[in-house]
Amino acid sequence: MFNFAESYNIYIMAGNEFFGTEEKKEINDVLETGILFRYNHDAQRNNIWKAREFEAEVAKLVGAKYAHAVSSGSTAVTCALAAAGIGAGDEVIVPPFTYIASIEAVIFAGALPVFAEIDETLCLSAAGIRKAITPKTKAILLVHMCGQMAQMDEIMKIVKEFNLVLVEDAGQAMAASFKGVSTGLWGKTGCYSFDFFKIATAGEGGVMVTNDEAAYKLADSIADHGHDHQGDNRGMENHPVLGFNYRISELHAAVGLAQTRRVPMIRDKNNNIKKAMMAELGKIKGIGFAVIPDPNGDSATFLNILMPDTELAQKTVEEFNKNGVSGFNYWYTNMYHFINQWDHIKEGRVAAKTNVQLLGAPQDYKNLDLPKTQKTIGRLISFGIKATWDDAALNDLLTKMKVSINSALSVTA
Ligand SMILES: *Cc1c(COP(=O)(O)O)cnc(C)c1O
Repeated sequence: MFNFAESYNIYIMAGNEFFGTEEKKEINDVLETGILFRYNHDAQRNNIWKAREFEAEVAKLVGAKYAHAVSSGSTAVTCALAAAGIGAGDEVIVPPFTYIASIEAVIFAGALPVFAEIDETLCLSAAGIRKAITPKTKAILLVHMCGQMAQMDEIMKIVKEFNLVLVEDAGQAMAASFKGVSTGLWGKTGCYSFDFFKIATAGEGGVMVTNDEAAYKLADSIADHGHDHQGDNRGMENHPVLGFNYRISELHAAVGLAQTRRVPMIRDKNNNIKKAMMAELGKIKGIGFAVIPDPNGDSATFLNILMPDTELAQKTVEEFNKNGVSGFNYWYTNMYHFINQWDHIKEGRVAAKTNVQLLGAPQDYKNLDLPKTQKTIGRLISFGIKATWDDAALNDLLTKMKVSINSALSVTA
């Protein structure tokens, strides 16, 4: 079994820590037949259908009625939006803290992102959403960040009150849940990413999930040039809607299948490690953690520390660097996860015109007033938890972390 973990100084979410005989077996099944395409070729494929198996495994893991695998988490967001009926000119409430793919998907759908406040759950808050609603609001793209989940009781109230379409980007929260319902299954459609950094990886891949049969059928067609996937003559299939190519290959699906089977094990290990870290670090006066609305539903891919303020968080980051502590993210200055660095969106720097340019931005993106978000992300330091850490590795890390945090806190005390 390879252990990639040691070679990483950026965050990882555990799937890529494991690559072994199980992954190789699934890939080999595909190599034996040479049918790398997920559809048709029934006679040659010897009943090997990895994309279908992958979808069934993800559906089983999260309790979804339907799952459709695609080429990436980003294209899964695209499918989730389109299958939920979100398109040209629709105003979609989005978080200013997310992987930028969420925002790109909204813009390339022809829709218009409206940024709203997050809170200490690291996700859009009900209060933030309420403030951002206008008569033109059509949908919320809710992103469950850093392995955790949003406060769904409060958010569902607003969704119902304003009759909004809820789409969930659970790109980094597969296998997380709130009160027993998985992230991704609260709204009309949801999605997960299987890129190299997620709790399970397919190399590249994504899965759109839904309990709505019509939305699933749309996604199935949207992801493959409109094909209805009926019969065995691909060239003569009907095309109920216009689509594009977001297909996953059998090779990627094979890896995703083996990895998805590992997720309950990874989640358990991550939760044990995260609880131990929170118990130990929680003894330090002044340190806090992101709010976990349902601690029993945490996928625990990240330990999310909230320092008292932005300045102390940045001092802590300096101390971590000084003391050789690695494996954490300070999102506040990250180019791809936080709005402060999204100058291309603010300045409308696009290769070709989008609806934001054509119709005009629904907000002044250069002068957004999101004080709660600024404060929260300024305070946040997230550690990627590694399921492969043993006690010695964890204790060594915790010792260094405590020294660093204590000296950061005492410098200004
Ligand atoms: C990773 C991620 C995506 C994009 O997934 P890719 O597979 O890298 O395209 C989308 N949304 C969120 C929240 C993510 O973390």
